[in-house]
Amino acid sequence: MPREQIERQEMPTQDPQERIHNFYEVALGYPEEVAKLEAQRCLQCKKPRCVEGCPVEVPIPQFILALREGDLAGSIRVMKTKNNLPAICGRVCPQETQCESMCVLGKKGQPVAIGRLERFIADWERSTGVQKPEIAPPTGKRVAVIGAGPAGLTAAGDLARYGHKVTIYEALHAPGGVLIYGIPEFRLPKDVVRSEVDYVLSLGVDLVLDCVVGKTLTLEDLFADGYEAIFLGTGAGLPMFMSIPGENYNGVYSANEFLTRVNLMKAYLFPEYDTPVKIGKRVAVIGAGNVAMDAARSSLRLGAEEVYIVYRRSRDEVPARAEEVHHAEEEGIQFKFLTNPVEIYGNDKGWVRGMRCIRMALGEPDASGRPRPVPIPGSEFDMEVDNVIMALGTRPNPMVFTDALGIERTRHGTIVGDPITGRTTRPRVWAGGDIVTGAATVISAMGAGKRAAADIDAFLKGAFTEADWHVKKEEVPAAHP
Ligand SMILES: Cc1cc2nc3c(=O)[nH]c(=O)nc-3n(C[C@H](O)[C@H](O)[C@H](O)COP(=O)(O)OP(=O)(O)OC[C@H]3O[C@@H](n4cnc5c(N)ncnc54)[C@H](O)[C@@H]3O)c2cc1C
Ligand code: SF4
Repeated sequence: MPREQIERQEMPTQDPQERIHNFYEVALGYPEEVAKLEAQRCLQCKKPRCVEGCPVEVPIPQFILALREGDLAGSIRVMKTKNNLPAICGRVCPQETQCESMCVLGKKGQPVAIGRLERFIADWERSTGVQKPEIAPPTGKRVAVIGAGPAGLTAAGDLARYGHKVTIYEALHAPGGVLIYGIPEFRLPKDVVRSEVDYVLSLGVDLVLDCVVGKTLTLEDLFADGYEAIFLGTGAGLPMFMSIPGENYNGVYSANEFLTRVNLMKAYLFPEYDTPVKIGKRVAVIGAGNVAMDAARSSLRLGAEEVYIVYRRSRDEVPARAEEVHHAEEEGIQFKFLTNPVEIYGNDKGWVRGMRCIRMALGEPDASGRPRPVPIPGSEFDMEVDNVIMALGTRPNPMVFTDALGIERTRHGTIVGDPITGRTTRPRVWAGGDIVTGAATVISAMGAGKRAAADIDAFLKGAFTEADWHVKKEEVPAAHP
């Protein structure tokens, strides 16, 4: 069939009515012949704009070309020159605002489904046996990476490939960061995360779990132990609340706590796993990012009958991935736009009974460039709900900083870090991912991990010294608006 006549290929999904009763993956992936058909749509542009939209610069046309020619091993090899976690990215990256938003085919029609092809090729590799890349000879240099999320795993993988000895220190009992404790099984199965973590470990990276840096040991301890560089990828896991009356009632959760209980502690497998979470008939989730969609869809699967997304802006400003919003709507999640809670009220036993909200209008753009939501006086109304889940964003946990003299932070609690190199204000300490930018995306955290790894490698190979280290808080562009 001529290339121009091929339509963008849909990905099969589990039926919405079935999937709201289980935690199995919703999107089922392309079969091989469909992947090859979709790959034929790519124009193989000489100046591929899609690559400009990818924070880790995956050689997109090359991996697609190999795929469509049937060289699947070659395709994944090309992919992994830049991306150590393709099965994860293929599932959770917001492609519509990154690579696919830049694809030339998107100007007049539908862009190439780059994310779905990435997922296909990564899943093919997992089912046939994972290939090992080339690793440089050992340099004898040691690097400590703090945090086993996408930023830390990417930095660790690249540093190991440069020949350095890397140890990751992780606070939780399982590696993966948000990928393991936040994003639910139905969107990102944990065996996918485990297999990509295992790949990073197979490059020679050591992993120490249950170790909270700042408490179990300090950054000074790590330097004293002989590490020559430290990368901080500790994320932004501290939930924010609204500071409205009633937030202390039983039945109010932060999305982070709720999702950690459901995912990492496997509450969805109760009583096989002894982590019950109490979900009533009606659940309101406040916020409309990926975290909110995950909390809402998890609540539904745990037995809630009515689930609302309560969002103070309009549909146009929803920050979640388009696919998640689409799936949430298919599953019957109800969206209450231009609505903001002002009070949660409870019964005499201290449990949530309902929520008072106010309607909002959109005003002038705020510092983030989005229209500022403004309350409409006198428009308050009540919603009867049994649970309220706050998904309003997160900040970095300050724990890691207990001893970190010299690592300066912004007023948002994030680290002051050079956006290109990841250098912090303290020599020999680099940082990247949500700890620097605030809550962002998997691929932006990976991009930061990659850039920092390259800079650490240059430092360890003598390209510059501590004397060249001039990171000044006032000179680093703020990561926040
Ligand atoms: C529910 C949810 C859904 C999301 N969905 C998407 C999505 O669909 N697409 C997308 O692109 N992004 C999504 N995101 C955002 C994305 O997951 C994050 O931007 C990304 O994980 C940040 O990576 P990171 O490595 O910087 O931090 P994290 O993933 O947070 O990893 C940090 C790690 O450091 C560990 N740590 C923290 N403090 C210490 C310490 N003191 N000592 C040792 N270890 C420590 C933590 O336990 C954690 O494992 C989602 C986020 C959430 C919460
Ligand atoms: S911009 Fe689109 S068509 Fe061009 S190489 Fe990238 S994916 Fe292919």
